[in-house]
Amino acid sequence: MRFEEIKQQEAANIMPTYGRFPVALVSGKGAVAKDCDGKEYVDFTSGIGVNSLGYCDEGWVKAVSQQAATLQHISNLYYSPVQTALAEKLCQLTGFSKVFFGNSGAEANECAIKLARKYSHDTYGAERGEIVTLRNSFHGRTVTTLAATGQDGLHTNFAPFTEGFRYAEAPTMEAVSACVTENTCAVMIEFIQGEGGVIPLSQAFVESLHAYCTENELLLIADEVQTGVGRTGALYAFQKFGVTPDILTSAKGLGGGLPIGACLCGEKLDAVMTGGTHGSTFGGNPVVCAGALEVLARVSNPAFLRQVEEKGAFLREKLEAMDEIADVRGMGMMLGAVLKTKEAKTVVAQCAAQGLLLLTAKDKLRFLPPLTISDEELCRGLTILESVLKN
Ligand SMILES: *Cc1c(COP(=O)(O)O)cnc(C)c1O
Repeated sequence: MRFEEIKQQEAANIMPTYGRFPVALVSGKGAVAKDCDGKEYVDFTSGIGVNSLGYCDEGWVKAVSQQAATLQHISNLYYSPVQTALAEKLCQLTGFSKVFFGNSGAEANECAIKLARKYSHDTYGAERGEIVTLRNSFHGRTVTTLAATGQDGLHTNFAPFTEGFRYAEAPTMEAVSACVTENTCAVMIEFIQGEGGVIPLSQAFVESLHAYCTENELLLIADEVQTGVGRTGALYAFQKFGVTPDILTSAKGLGGGLPIGACLCGEKLDAVMTGGTHGSTFGGNPVVCAGALEVLARVSNPAFLRQVEEKGAFLREKLEAMDEIADVRGMGMMLGAVLKTKEAKTVVAQCAAQGLLLLTAKDKLRFLPPLTISDEELCRGLTILESVLKN
């Protein structure tokens, strides 16, 4: 199909919630995608941090297609050895003891919110259900995870929202403690705010927050939907910060391209969600879990994670050397670049036209390449970016 036909079909039949680039992608290999006219694009987005192993990785395709040809779905009324194997692997690699599987980041966070509230209600009484999140955070698009998201711009049109969220105005202990009341049960953070502009928390703040939560019997929830699964050079960013949250959520990169969300907790919380308190029809689907098992097997390898660090450092160095770039933030292969004079949105549109897929995060350029990107693919993309920034 020609691009114009696809565009018309989209306009006719899909709710216009997305501002799309004039690119229709039809195939891909590694970090290179092809559009409907056969034009190639180097991909620095990995589908917003999803395709951790790139497009159509051989091992991932084999795992997923073998499972699809064996048993595609069974519902959670029955046991699945693929789902149990993934849960065991996730627990082994993170030190947590229980997992709930959903289908997205928002669903993983919904589970985290329900888990924190139920634990607090069970332990301290029904009033104690407030959660503090940070200004500029992003936790999802469902009504409750939007309420958890500390961005006023997203709190329009859909009232009434779920109650019980307060937003700390800055990542400081003063701002967090100003939001804590006798009814607070948890504090929820992203180690690096992704959608909010690739803004990492400081090591000192994370440590103080952890100590404060312990002292005040508050649960610490880490939304690692974007920072997880090798993205920062550690399997999960909490391992880099050396601070273990009570609840961890993971999604995006975990499935390697198929929808999955996971909410993990340790022993303290592992008996809170009892029979009938939560569920998901598709959660822990065997095909998705088979893909995620392959992703984890590969990404958890120390040599793989070292390469993420190295490639991230290389990318950062090249970006810092570009005249138009004022500053680079982030960790591993989750980077944001501050531009001196140009508008990020315009640069990303120009890059797309020149054959490079890039993201923005607020006013920054955002880089989330597949973790498997080769040096040659990185250089090819950087050359395009450099020429766009020079014009
Ligand atoms: C993307 C994202 C979400 C939402 O994930 P979905 O899969 O789109 O529901 C939640 N939290 C963070 C930190 C994210 O980056």
